[in-house]
Amino acid sequence: MKDEKPFITRFAPSPNGWLHLGHAYSALIGARAAREAGGQFLLRIEDIDVGRARPHFVEGIYQDLEWLGLSWPEPVMVQSARFEIYQAALDALRAQGLVYPCWATRREILAAIQDKKDWPRDPDGAPLYPGLYRDLPDSRRKKLMWEGTPYCWRLNMEKALAQVQDPLSYCERGSGTAEIMPLDAAAYGDVVLARKDVPTSYHLAVVVDDAAQHISQVTRGRDLQSATAIHVLLQKLLGLPQPDYLHHGLVRDTSGRRLSKQAGDSGFRDLRQAGMGLDEVLALLPPPFGSAE
Ligand code: GLU
Repeated sequence: MKDEKPFITRFAPSPNGWLHLGHAYSALIGARAAREAGGQFLLRIEDIDVGRARPHFVEGIYQDLEWLGLSWPEPVMVQSARFEIYQAALDALRAQGLVYPCWATRREILAAIQDKKDWPRDPDGAPLYPGLYRDLPDSRRKKLMWEGTPYCWRLNMEKALAQVQDPLSYCERGSGTAEIMPLDAAAYGDVVLARKDVPTSYHLAVVVDDAAQHISQVTRGRDLQSATAIHVLLQKLLGLPQPDYLHHGLVRDTSGRRLSKQAGDSGFRDLRQAGMGLDEVLALLPPPFGSAE
């Protein structure tokens, strides 16, 4: 049966470093899927991390993607211009009593779990949030708010899951066929939905924007596959449509380590500025573009 929804996918980089070969791969996979489906490939600039995002990295994203031969419709969605929209989504969760303000500092969190042996970690390796400030009486909450100490907003995972009831699942297309996969949002605990310094978080913004852009397939790396549980949960809580997901393999260097901005992997712009041609860069990528493992 033919899918009724138009195929729309996106590449959603964060401009806090130069794109590396892993980003090039992700963008090319998305653009190719859109071409094959006769659909659209969109670009979205995920610059909510205002402390780290830089205009020259945004410029670099455009230049690198153009060099790869990619194009996308204008105007490009830019997350830093959409804080009010994320605020409205947070308000909707607040109205359902599913989020709570949290004043915990990193130090408080570590102190709360330091004597607990084998404290559980989320799928990304971070210790689960130990629930500080979750069950405060309203009067205490109000007092803390008046005092003006910065706070973030966390999802009350237990309440959220109770509200959704049905087990979560999604459609994964990473293997080339559609597979329905189970999701475990509880494994993430009370995730942050609005940071102390920014009125949203990656999880909230990505869900709101995938819906706003009518994304039918999210294309991204396997490092974000587990977080899909949070995203699908938020889609249900906010009444948003659920896209399919294609999580592709990660590009690794010759020693098998996956590329990352944090580890300082240089952008592929270095390769092209050193005179490499498009075919040579593509040859460095895993199939279907190159043959690198
Ligand atoms: N902005 C995220 C990143 O650069 C990607 C988000 C996504 O594709 O869902 O890692």
